[in-house]
Amino acid sequence: MSGDKGGGSDGRTPGRDFVREIVAADLASGKHGGRVATRFPPEPNGLLHIGHAKAICLDFGVAAENGGTCNLRFDDTNPETEEAGYVEAIKRDIRWLGFEWSELRHASDYFEQLYDYGVHLIEKGSAYVDSLSEEEIRAHRGTVTEPGRPSPWRDRPLEESLDFFRRMRAGEFEDGAHVLRARIDMASPNMIMRDPVLFRIRRAHHYRTGSEWCIYPMYDFAHCLSDSIEGITHSLCTLEFVNNRAIYDWLLEEVEAPEPVPRQYEFARLNLEYTIVSKRKLLRLVQDGHVSGWDDPRMPTLSGLRRRGVTPAAIRNFCGLVGVAKADNRVDAAKLEYAIRDDLNMRVPRVMCVQRPLRVVITNFPEGETDWLDAPLYPHDVPLEGTRPVPFTRELYIERHDFMEDPPRRFFRLAPGREVRLRYGYFIRCEEVVKDEAGEVVELRCTYDPATRGGSAPDGRKVRGTIHWVSAEHARPCEVRLYDRLFRTRDPDRGDFLAQLNPDSLVVHADARVEPSIADDPPGTRYQFERVGYFISDEEDSRPDRLVFNRTVGLRDSWVKIRKQQMAQEARKAKGRGRKKRKRGKKRG
Ligand code: ATP
Ligand code: MG
Repeated sequence: MSGDKGGGSDGRTPGRDFVREIVAADLASGKHGGRVATRFPPEPNGLLHIGHAKAICLDFGVAAENGGTCNLRFDDTNPETEEAGYVEAIKRDIRWLGFEWSELRHASDYFEQLYDYGVHLIEKGSAYVDSLSEEEIRAHRGTVTEPGRPSPWRDRPLEESLDFFRRMRAGEFEDGAHVLRARIDMASPNMIMRDPVLFRIRRAHHYRTGSEWCIYPMYDFAHCLSDSIEGITHSLCTLEFVNNRAIYDWLLEEVEAPEPVPRQYEFARLNLEYTIVSKRKLLRLVQDGHVSGWDDPRMPTLSGLRRRGVTPAAIRNFCGLVGVAKADNRVDAAKLEYAIRDDLNMRVPRVMCVQRPLRVVITNFPEGETDWLDAPLYPHDVPLEGTRPVPFTRELYIERHDFMEDPPRRFFRLAPGREVRLRYGYFIRCEEVVKDEAGEVVELRCTYDPATRGGSAPDGRKVRGTIHWVSAEHARPCEVRLYDRLFRTRDPDRGDFLAQLNPDSLVVHADARVEPSIADDPPGTRYQFERVGYFISDEEDSRPDRLVFNRTVGLRDSWVKIRKQQMAQEARKAKGRGRKKRKRGKKRG
């Protein structure tokens, strides 16, 4: 049997958001010579997460929709935290998501040009070398309500600044001894414009340029100029850069960047409930061992989502659902789950897997015989076809929680004396419950009705419940990993995120059994385990004789919902009784 392994169907066409409106208007007016050129600029200091997926879908999407280009540019100006390994992982993740860049670039490609721009700014009196320490610079910067004070070096002779800048590059000074600053306005209401630092000395090994440089450009300097060098038209970034737009435009003007210059537009970051999307915090989870790695299936990274079984199409569709807006908010976690279910439902085969097996012996089925049943791989509303053989034998396993000795109201599964349907199989009736010394149920002795093969009784008798099952003899032992939210709280960014980790985010059923039809599928195949949820066999940990399945997302279980309602009702009743008692107590007292 072959399941779904690949990406496949395309995401929904996104509607016109404000970015697309701007791009359309610019194309109509011929503003950038009728061109659209975007870039996606990750810093290679961690892996991409679901938030980046939103930016990727926008940057690459806008370019593709308008016959434009989108570069992948590594914004690699902080040597201490950046690694070549991250570069490769980011490239792999973008391709997996379904996008291909026009050109691969690195901010570090432009170090020489950026240095020249620094020289140019000094020459025209728009930048100077400051010899204050980092703390002094901060102290001089002022506050939101108070203007900053000029550095005593602000009016340093031009030739001296040029000489110092050259010697900064040549490695004559200690880290932090001098910086290159723009000469703008120390009283600007926009703090970023109070003579921002453009270059700093940092003796650190760069993963691409090695020890060639000991000065590195700051983000604000490198970003706009890299955009200009690459001929970017629309530089899309997230809202926290709103105040940086002023320096973006100022620098392009000061260096007399060729027209038409790139323009920066800001959109809202994607924040997801019960999730963090900050590489710094995700790195912390990895380093402190709270997760098994960047690709732990609980991580909101693209590699984590991939390992969890989420398809690229589901992520693209999710980004389409979320849209692109100008106001920050936290997206409902159910939206992502919806997008995942919606996509998997249409593409993955159905099979049966019992997570916590309970032995069932069909006492009136002959020993050693197998009845091969034919079961559909897809429900009728899915336009895919195929069947798989499912063996029915004397010994079976059912799910432990599908049996209750003393069932509450509306529990329609197996119980002593009751009859249920085994999916695609027969009606069985529980005749006897076998327990061990501790009183735990270890086996059910049941009878089956041979006339109900295929799932209906010729006498028209009905059963309320249908449960999944496997043949004890034919089923394959496997491990099932159930993942839940990594955080207990909706907004784990508020407060100490580590204190909000969900201790139950991983539940392992090490002794599960899956039907034999999947035996020849390669790891990384996706399924729906009927009545349970969507799963993928783990490519790292699966062994031929022992598959490991990751739960991608659950189905909505109607019984869990009913049980929750019942429990809430019981709790309300108990509370009511408590209140009455207290009232009576008061009267008496
Ligand atoms: P982090 O805080 O996770 O490190 P970052 O913004 O520093 O994120 P970059 O590698 O600089 O990470 O991001 C590359 C691009 O992805 C930037 O244009 C950034 O605006 C965008 N991006 C990052 N996080 C999100 C998010 N949560 N939603 C939308 N876009 C994002
Ligand atoms: Mg960043």
